Amino acid sequence: MQKIDNFINGKITPPKDKEYMPNYEPATGEAYSEVALSKKEDVEEAVAAAQSAFKSWSCLPSEKRASYLQAIANRIEEHLEDFAQAESKDTGKPISLARTVDIPRAISNFRFFAAAAIQFASEAHPMDTRAINYTLRQPVGVVGCISPWNLPLYLLTWKIAPALAAGCTVVAKPSELTPMTAFLLSKVCQEIELPAGVLNIIQGKGNEAGAAITGHPQIKAISFTGGTATGATIAAQVATQFKKLSLELGGKNPTIIFEDCDYADALQTAISAAFSNQGQICLCGSRILIQASIYEKFRNDFVALAQNLLPQDPLLPETKLGAVISKEHQQKILSYIQIARQEGGKILCGGNSIVLEGRCQNGWFVAPTVIEGLDYTCTANQEEIFGPVVTLLPFETEEELLQIANGTPYGLAANLWTNNLKRAHRLGALLEFGIIWVNCWMLRDLRTPFGGVKNSGLGREGGFEAMRFFTEPKNICIKLG
Ligand code: NAD
Repeated sequence: MQKIDNFINGKITPPKDKEYMPNYEPATGEAYSEVALSKKEDVEEAVAAAQSAFKSWSCLPSEKRASYLQAIANRIEEHLEDFAQAESKDTGKPISLARTVDIPRAISNFRFFAAAAIQFASEAHPMDTRAINYTLRQPVGVVGCISPWNLPLYLLTWKIAPALAAGCTVVAKPSELTPMTAFLLSKVCQEIELPAGVLNIIQGKGNEAGAAITGHPQIKAISFTGGTATGATIAAQVATQFKKLSLELGGKNPTIIFEDCDYADALQTAISAAFSNQGQICLCGSRILIQASIYEKFRNDFVALAQNLLPQDPLLPETKLGAVISKEHQQKILSYIQIARQEGGKILCGGNSIVLEGRCQNGWFVAPTVIEGLDYTCTANQEEIFGPVVTLLPFETEEELLQIANGTPYGLAANLWTNNLKRAHRLGALLEFGIIWVNCWMLRDLRTPFGGVKNSGLGREGGFEAMRFFTEPKNICIKLG
């Protein structure tokens, strides 16, 4: 069986103690490769390689660093189909999504930060004729980048690319559940002859390899995307080491439908926002808040579309809904549906796992599930389920809407459907989320700050902000005259 090893100091490197665990294909429930279970010693080796590469990488002219990032982007593009197949197989997501969203966006990450590396600038503050201050932004050193399984290559490169552009060297860890695209990225780095040690990829579990990265004294900044509970553990660990920390965490995002919206567009986008990637996107709209005057019509139309969206083999080109990431996650999703039933929720469609025929008969599938009748304080309206499960909630007034929308511990993203311009601005300011989409969903301009408030995260990634995170500002004050 194929082994998925680490990438350390420019070489594909087996873990020191030769321990592996099975890597499953969610659509079949079968292991198809083995992933390295790296330990502290492997992380030590990667950090040492990154440290020795730091001086020359950080001193390279920014054009040269940019050309390496461009070369990585070009090579991923040449291998796009291999990456898309690997991503679909590892995650269970429809191949069409991997081909058109995940992998192209990973390529864009490298291209965007290649351009940003050249454009990166700093500030000067003249004090009339007395002195001039300027801010020197120097790369912090070796940094750790840790990412989850739902958009594996896209989210990992969203961290790696700005770190490399800023002149840092990197020890990165993908999720142990989806290691394959990061492994292919290792090979790309070899092909384009990225200098050894600049990017190191450690495979393995969070509580071993991940904790060894976040706890390493020579790692100066941690950029983490994942669950809120893990984020809290990491925040506690790195606080005493005074590391820089960026956390992109969970969400419980509302899709808000007003009666004056463009109905067909709102309905179709609400379906995509609910069920794309089987509801396993941190930005998914899992609570649909509908103005009472159109509640019944919207509910019936929404359920009719959701019922038609049945899971299929993710590797088929026409598939729109694939498998969920693991057996445990499937059980977790089903247990949330059970709690919703106990709390008085009415299941309008779905509510069960699905067994497919043929190649995918042992895969982990869940039917798109729509629930109504739950108060906004109920479990299914408060906790992140991270599956193809949405709740419907009617509202009468803007005041009530804000109470429901803002009434969770999370604050990642909201999408708001209205043609009333004043209302859009008013609610845009009052909704407690890091991202507010008006009449759209998932539109991303990589120059904008990205991230959540409340329990959804800390710090902002995106644009030059992302590169600044990987630098340490130093003020130089020069007396004039
Ligand atoms: P997770 O927190 O279980 O794992 C994320 C990563 O952290 C994995 O690589 C894991 O191995 C590692 N990890 C786990 N414990 C660790 C520890 N103690 N120290 C260091 N590393 C550790 O999350 P997941 O289940 O992989 O991903 C799903 C979660 O990610 C959801 O909550 C989702 O909302 C969130 N997410 C957030 C964003 C965002 O941008 N805000 C994007 C995607 C996913």
